[in-house]
Amino acid sequence: MQIFREIPPLRAFVRSRRQAGDAVGFVPTMGFLHDGHLSLVREAGKRAGCVVVSIFVNPTQFGPNEDLDTYPRDEAGDLAKCEAAGAAAVFLPRVWEMYPSEPLTTVRVAGMTDRLCGASRPTHFDGVTTIVTKLFQVVQPDVAVFGQKDFQQLAVIRRMVRELHMPIDIVGMPTAREADGLALSSRNAYLSPAQRADAPRLQQALQAARAEVAAGVLDAEILIERAREKIQGSPHARIDYIEVVHPATLDPVGVIGPDGAVMALAVFMGETRLIDNLRLDDRNAA
Ligand code: AMP
Repeated sequence: MQIFREIPPLRAFVRSRRQAGDAVGFVPTMGFLHDGHLSLVREAGKRAGCVVVSIFVNPTQFGPNEDLDTYPRDEAGDLAKCEAAGAAAVFLPRVWEMYPSEPLTTVRVAGMTDRLCGASRPTHFDGVTTIVTKLFQVVQPDVAVFGQKDFQQLAVIRRMVRELHMPIDIVGMPTAREADGLALSSRNAYLSPAQRADAPRLQQALQAARAEVAAGVLDAEILIERAREKIQGSPHARIDYIEVVHPATLDPVGVIGPDGAVMALAVFMGETRLIDNLRLDDRNAA
C-alpha cells in the first residue's frame, strides 16, 4: 500500500494503475477509522481494482465552536486498517496541500443543505461539497463510496455529482453499528460511560418509528413526537432535530406515501452530537 501526502505523486500513481487497466475506487474519510469506514473500503474493492482512501480532517466543514482541534486521530492505526481492508493507496494531505491559498471557490448545493444538519451547522455542507469536489478532481475516481449514516451528505453529494456531470458512480453503504444498535462514529470516543449507555436510544427510537409505520401510523408528526419522548427519557440527551423527509429530495414528509420516507435525527449526548437515520417504510433498507 502506497502512502501519499502530496497531490502530484498520487496523481501519477492513479494514472499508472489506470493505464494498467484498473478502475479507480475512492473512499473519503476524516480518519480514526472504524468498521463502518472499512466496509466502504471493502465495497470499493469489489467495484474497482485500485482503491484510494483519503484521510483529511477538513477545516472548512467545521463551525467555529466545533471539534476541529480535538477531532480524534490515529494515523498509524488507520494505515494498518486501510492496508488490511485492501486499499492500494492512502492520501493524507496537509491542510496547505488541499488549500494552498485563501480559498475563493466554494461548491454549494443550495436548498437541501439548509435543513436537517444544515440548520444547526450552516457552513458545514459547503465545506463538504467543496472538499469532496477537490478530492474528486485529485483522484478522478470511477466510483466513490459513502455511508448512509451521513444520509444528508450522501443525498447532497448525489445531487452535486448529477448536476455537475461528474462521471463518478456514487455508492451508499448501510450503517455499521455496535451490537446494541449505536451507529459507529469516530465521535463515539467522546462519550462518557453514562452517555454511551443511553446513546442506543437514538436507534431504538428509529426502530420504534419503523414498527409504528408497519402497524399503519403514517403521520410524521405523531412519529416524531413518539421518537422525541423516547430520546428525552435520557437526562444526557438534548435533541437538535428529528425529522421525517423524502429519501432523495430531503423535503419534509407529512404523511408517509409511496415514495417512502427517512426519519433523520441529531441528538447531543452531553457535548457530543450524534446523528442517525432509518428508512421507515422498507425493512430491507438501512
Ligand atoms: P467521516 O470520517 O466521519 O467523514 O466518514 C467517512 C465516510 O464513512 C462517510 O461516507 C461516512 O458516511 C462513512 N461512515 C461513517 N460512519 C459510518 C458507519 N457507522 N457505517 C458506515 N459508514 C460510515
